[in-house]
Amino acid sequence: MRLLVVEDEIKTGNYLHQGLTEAGFLVVLARNGLDGHHLAMTETFDLIILDVMLPDVDGWRIVQSLREAGRQTPVLFLTARDSVDDRVKGLELGADDYLVKPFAFAELLARVRTLLRRSTVPVQTDRLCVADLVLDLPRRRATRAGRKIALSAKEFSLLELLMRRQGEVLPRSLIASQVWDMNFDSDTNVIDVAIRRLRAKIDDEFEPKLIHTVRGMGYKLDAETDDEAP
Ligand code: CA
Repeated sequence: MRLLVVEDEIKTGNYLHQGLTEAGFLVVLARNGLDGHHLAMTETFDLIILDVMLPDVDGWRIVQSLREAGRQTPVLFLTARDSVDDRVKGLELGADDYLVKPFAFAELLARVRTLLRRSTVPVQTDRLCVADLVLDLPRRRATRAGRKIALSAKEFSLLELLMRRQGEVLPRSLIASQVWDMNFDSDTNVIDVAIRRLRAKIDDEFEPKLIHTVRGMGYKLDAETDDEAP
């Protein structure tokens, strides 16, 4: 599950990032409203945690833009204000829930889980996301951590296959038939070479590494490392 947290207070932002990461979520933290607005409008998240009081684009404005654009991502508001008017305004603009600061982390986590369970967001099939790697299918464009990555047509198909089947070990023979439309008997070198090129582009300069070699079996793309909690 991929969450966006928009919070300008350094301490609260770090606290949320750490706590939610430890709880097993992939967390993207925006430290101002402008970045938060951009991320919320251009990337796919399962839930957005939104501070109301931001110095540039405030939380209200972000949720308003989201809903106007028809994006149904659940939004949890964090507000230091506890007046009834503010809560009502947030909910009227399309927030799904709110939490008044200061809050206990356990309370936040419970609200997050409830919203995720309740969420009926239709799966957006035009965009694949794994950690901060995003594949925009209609535009044939890949980005990692917001940086554009140039891919050949084959590399794009290969990455699309790996991302669609995130976490699954894909044998070379399957990759060969799906991406190259060919059957490979023993010479699978072309796949290893393509994987190496793809890795250089999407993993070399980034963490965590996403493409993993499963010895004797094939390849998989996954953001989770082995020591991570399930
Ligand atoms: Ca704030």
